[in-house]
Amino acid sequence: MGSMTRPGASRITVKTPLVEMDGDEMTRVIWALVKERLIEPYVDVKLERYDLGLPERDRTDDRVTVQAAEAIKKYGVGVKCATITPNEDRVVEYKLKQAWPSPNGTIRALLDGTVFRRPIVVKNVPPMVRNWAKPITIGRHAYGDMYRSAEMRIRQVVHDFKASGIVRGVHNLDASIRSFARACIHFALSEKEDLWFSGKDTIAKIYHGAFREIFRQEVDARMADFEKAGITYSYMLIDDAVARAIRSTGGYLWACMNYDGDVMSDMIAAGFGSLGLMTSVLVSPDGHFEYEAAHGTVQRHYYEHLKGRPTSTNSTATIFAWSGALAKRGELDGTPEVTRFAKAIEQAVLETIESGIVTKDLATIAQPPVAGHVTTEGFISAIAERLAVKVGHLAGAR
Ligand code: NAP
Ligand code: MG
Repeated sequence: MGSMTRPGASRITVKTPLVEMDGDEMTRVIWALVKERLIEPYVDVKLERYDLGLPERDRTDDRVTVQAAEAIKKYGVGVKCATITPNEDRVVEYKLKQAWPSPNGTIRALLDGTVFRRPIVVKNVPPMVRNWAKPITIGRHAYGDMYRSAEMRIRQVVHDFKASGIVRGVHNLDASIRSFARACIHFALSEKEDLWFSGKDTIAKIYHGAFREIFRQEVDARMADFEKAGITYSYMLIDDAVARAIRSTGGYLWACMNYDGDVMSDMIAAGFGSLGLMTSVLVSPDGHFEYEAAHGTVQRHYYEHLKGRPTSTNSTATIFAWSGALAKRGELDGTPEVTRFAKAIEQAVLETIESGIVTKDLATIAQPPVAGHVTTEGFISAIAERLAVKVGHLAGAR
């Protein structure tokens, strides 16, 4: 089927190497297909490849994850496949030396970035929430709180324990909160979308209060830009924000603390149709970018795949991770042809879905209804066919 190179056809050159991070399970299967069918035939790019698949992380005592993060700092843009965060079951399944930490957690901590999760809106996939007309982007603070906490069992004055209990010490850094606020303000201004920030400062008066105060200072400093862009900033309590989000029509950036962002982005993804339609980009204060799908490794589908059964996993978010990274590379390198190609991939995906060729997750919710669903490979093949035609047109225009 798909050939690695197309004899006689010239590929688009990407100036700077792109950091590629491979991953696990079903998304690793998809990763290889996307590269082979949609990227390599068209783009001449030096991929600085790091295998973050669990066996390689275990073999290198997780050094490969740190090396990947360093490479993103060096080259500026990375694209990452979903990876397993091992728990006890995985330690047994993969015979691991230990339960290695979450690669995303490690990379986020090293880049000190903010994660923006944005649903991909397709015409024939109406959101579960009727009034959501525009995407809702979640800006998730990617440092500290529960994700950098120390948990221990103690007997101490935190609580007068009558029996054994549990306790957790969490922390954050003013500088990290400030760069989170700045990243969100930058995103809101560039997208011309209202900015929400939510917390629970009525209960965590000092901890959440500090977040609220730092956001207020940073917004005040940019008030003129907010007015020029015609957008607003609102602080609200997290429970109020959740209720408002459901009643809203969308079209704003919702800045969330680390845990809230973890949970809310899954809610938003499901509400917009499927986890397979949610993209994610980690933006560091130094201007480094890491693109990925927001979903995990889709373990259940992978086990079907291993049994030799057909699967129907949605590769949209993974493809958009590649296109997002290539578009950014084109922007940073000053090579608009690379960015144009990235947009052509996204168009090919959207048109494929809107023509009624969908994976199982969308088959039941598409409007108008579709006849059936295609396989994981069938979906990527349909996109590859459309892309080939588009690239022919692009080449004709050059
Ligand atoms: P998941 O991979 O996100 O999948 C959960 C369920 O969501 C799937 O079983 C499937 O539902 C549906 N789904 C997710 N992505 C889909 C797609 N692209 N197309 C169609 N359906 C999709 O979460 P998980 O199974 O709980 O986690 C598996 C592994 O992923 C875990 O080891 C976890 O550590 C890891 N993880 C990694 C990341 C990351 O690297 N960014 C993020 C989250 C989780 P049905 O079964 O109903 O079809
Ligand atoms: Mg989550």
